[in-house]
Amino acid sequence: MRQRVFSGARPTGRQHIGNYIGAIQNYVRLQDKFDCIYCIVDIHALTTIESTAELQKNIFEMTLDWLAAGIDPEKSIVFVQSHVPEVTELFTYLGMLTPLGWLLRVPTFKEKVRMQPHNVNYGLVGYPVLMAADIMLYKTNVVPVGEDQLPHLEMTREIVRRFNNIFGETFPEPRAKLTNYPLVIGLDGAQKMGKSYDNHIELAATPEETLSRVMTAVTDPARQRRHDQGHPDVCNVYSLHKFFNGNLIAEIAEKCKSAKIGCVECKELLARGINGALRDFRERRIEFERYPDRIYSILETGAQRAHSIAEQTIDEVKHKMGLLKNA
Ligand code: SF4
Repeated sequence: MRQRVFSGARPTGRQHIGNYIGAIQNYVRLQDKFDCIYCIVDIHALTTIESTAELQKNIFEMTLDWLAAGIDPEKSIVFVQSHVPEVTELFTYLGMLTPLGWLLRVPTFKEKVRMQPHNVNYGLVGYPVLMAADIMLYKTNVVPVGEDQLPHLEMTREIVRRFNNIFGETFPEPRAKLTNYPLVIGLDGAQKMGKSYDNHIELAATPEETLSRVMTAVTDPARQRRHDQGHPDVCNVYSLHKFFNGNLIAEIAEKCKSAKIGCVECKELLARGINGALRDFRERRIEFERYPDRIYSILETGAQRAHSIAEQTIDEVKHKMGLLKNA
């Protein structure tokens, strides 16, 4: 039997090249070795969003990007978290055995309290329990994580151990599949690429939009004039070339250092590299976009497949916890 992978991502709408290099490509690769479950965690999103007006659109756009990138609904289960409501049931049960002290110590909770002091809701403190419920509901064996997310997974493992100790062996302890996601810095050259910093390039952007975004990128600050010699190692445009123009980086570095190439030309080259690398993705995305019903049907089928696993787990959990009469 293949091991089961679960990964959830918040519905952030159109994905950017940082998401693609960091996570989506990895999702696609994992499908060949594992039974993968990829979930758009819309309930998690409710802990921080102020308006849900864009939520459905964001789910749709994100699904389009995942599918166009190669996540295959024949191989993997792709669905929306709230479409399988058993997760909220398991969340409630797990909440009864998770000490509050564990949750109040979680660094991301403290950070969220700082970021949204006007909205410190119950969901924020329970976030790791809902995450555990996501992972446990599908009896997950493996969770792909970056190093920074290891403490979150450790919390899930602790909840699994606690449940198994109290109620008997029920859940596998999920292990981390450490993925060294390359850190993709945004066009500002300062922050990790992200929509909230407006320093990103959407995967679905047109070639013209891509070029215009790339033109805003910050370059080597010491290179003020065309004939100044550049320092590619401190230039984020150069870092992005490594992802999209790998075969040219030695040449670009040499030309930058000797001022044989200007930043405008260098950026045009980067935009061409990005547009070339994403050409097939964008064609597939346009094709998927023409048939929205097909996207909704993929999500519905995914939810049905997820539900059939979830209901067995919930039955077992209720029996173990004494909530159902033994037959
Ligand atoms: Fe950066 Fe390219 Fe300009 Fe060199 S030529 S500073 S690598 S944008």
